[in-house]
Parts: sequence; structure tokens; C-alpha cells
Amino acid sequence: AIGNHLAADKNAIPPVVKVAGDSNGPRVTGKVVIITGANSILGIGRASAHQFAQNGAKAVYICDYDDSNLEAHKREIESLYPSVDVHTRQFDAADEKAISEVVKDALDRYGRLDVFFANAGITGPHTKFSDVDADEFMDTMRVNALGPFLAAKYAAPAMRKTSAEKPKSSGSIIMTASVAGLRSNAGGTPYSASKAAVVSMAQTIAYQLVGTNIRVNALCPGLVETGMTAPVFESARARGTERKIGQLNPLRRGGHADEIARVALFLGSDESSYVNAQAWAVDGGLSSGHPYVP
Ligand code: NAD
Repeated sequence: AIGNHLAADKNAIPPVVKVAGDSNGPRVTGKVVIITGANSILGIGRASAHQFAQNGAKAVYICDYDDSNLEAHKREIESLYPSVDVHTRQFDAADEKAISEVVKDALDRYGRLDVFFANAGITGPHTKFSDVDADEFMDTMRVNALGPFLAAKYAAPAMRKTSAEKPKSSGSIIMTASVAGLRSNAGGTPYSASKAAVVSMAQTIAYQLVGTNIRVNALCPGLVETGMTAPVFESARARGTERKIGQLNPLRRGGHADEIARVALFLGSDESSYVNAQAWAVDGGLSSGHPYVP
């Protein structure tokens, strides 16, 4: 068979070369993970904190500028997965000092940072571009684009330190973009622009981290029912038009936060050790199709 010439003994099948360990057990054992935008009860950040905790993370920092649910999330995760340390932090994801401090805290406490999931985001104004104020535009860019930029700026040096001290470890920076950053007409102009910036940044930064074993990827959800989009789903339910939400989607439905979180887990784990500088659409197929529905 093809490839058998690689075997020293022609009768023996050589073992599959394992690069990133066994994927059957906990998938992020011992990793230290920072997640922004983790306060929302329905959100992608909270669902991701659960995924990382359930899959063996040593510590998960759940961060948000709104801290109304963070302590409750912490108690819930610690009761479900007693071996994980959960830390809560209240800060603005675009606050440079706060980002540098949370990264420093991870290094001081654990001597390592493995995953920074820069996930905090806002929708910005949905009005026609000509009605958008410059301040609204800049606010959206600040949270959605500057936030992930700062995450990478401070996480990468910490991850380099981790990699140098523990040669087998690799860092993973995950930035939540959106299908709105890949295709037009999926959000307001500031939102789409900010998410396209995230895609571009993830790719540019990945290249600038050449040779460091730190990977940077943009995660691009389609329409998912979360705190951000709850009003869309609720009003569709109230009007009996929920089916329309999934009409353009080959799966005929919107997504769930956990379906995005599971991809964040994969990108944060060593299972994705050769996935770098990509924009991952997790949208049920929405962004790949033509908007014709038979
Ligand atoms: P969500 O509103 O449920 O959660 C977003 C969280 O980010 C909230 O807890 C909010 O308090 C926090 N946040 C907002 N601004 C912040 C700031 N400046 N500093 C710190 N925290 C801040 O919505 P979600 O859908 O879970 O959003 C997570 C990410 O997914 C966002 O980046 C969003 O743009 C992106 N996204 C969502 C969808 C969707 O359909 N829900 C689609 C594509 C992309």
C-alpha cells in the first residue's frame, strides 16, 4: 500500500506518528487559560470556560467588564470540576493595563500562559453607515479590534516564556471575529469592519510570531443565540418567524454557544497544533453558500 515503503520491516505497519498526544483524554490538561467576555449567561465565553474546565485546564480566568455573574459562574465551574482554579476579573477588554495585569497574574501564579481567548465583543450600531457617529464607530473598533490586539500583545511574550521553559508547550491565541468579518451584510458597518480587522490581525500576528510555536486563529461564529443576539431570537419567537432565522443556513437553524465553545477548545488544545493563521467559520455552513434557498 502507499506509504509502506516507509516501514523498515515490510511486514510491519509503522505506528501513526503522534505529534500532539492522545486526544481521548482531557484535552487541555494543565493549561492556563484566560477568557474575556465570560460574564454573559448565554454567552460563548461562559460556555468556553466550561469546556476548558471540563477538559483538564489547570486554571481558567473568566473576565468581563460586567461582573454581575462572574462569581456565580466561578462557583458553578468549581463545583462541577473541582480540580480547576477559577479566577474572576472585572475589566474592560480594551484596557491595556488590565490586560497586562491579568497576563502577569497568570505567569506569577502558574509560571505559564497557554491560551488567551479574546472573546469580548459588542454589536455596535446597526443603523445605515451614513447615520453612524464617529464615536460609535470607534467604540466598536475599540472593544472588538483593539481588545484582541492587546490580548495578543501581552499574551504572546508570556507564552514565549512558557514555551521556552516547557519546550513541549505551545501557546494559542484565539480571537472571536464573526462571519460578519468574512462576508458583507452580516452586521452593522462598524461591527463588520471591526471583525474583518480581527481576521486580518490574527493572520498578521501569526506570521510575526514565526518560530515561536504560538498559534493565532480567528473564530468566526455565524448567528448564535447568546446575550448579544437574544433580542433577535426572542422577537422572532414572539412573531412566530423563528424558522426564518435558519432559512439561509444549510442546517436550518442558528447555533448554540457550546457549539462555538467546542471549537475554541479545539483551537486552544494541542489537537490543533498545525492550525494557525486561519479564520474558522463556525456557522453551520452559512457563509459558504449562495443565498438561494430551494
Ligand atoms: P454576549 O453578549 O452573550 O457576550 C459578550 C460578553 O462580552 C458580555 O458578557 C459582555 O459583557 C462582554 N463585553 C462586552 N464589551 C466588553 C468589554 N469592553 N470588556 C469586557 N467585556 C466586554 O455575546 P456572545 O455572542 O457570547 O459574544 C461573544 C463574541 O462572539 C463577541 O465577540 C461577538 O461579537 C462574537 N460573535 C457572536 C455572534 C452571535 O451570533 N452571538 C456571532 C458572531 C460573533
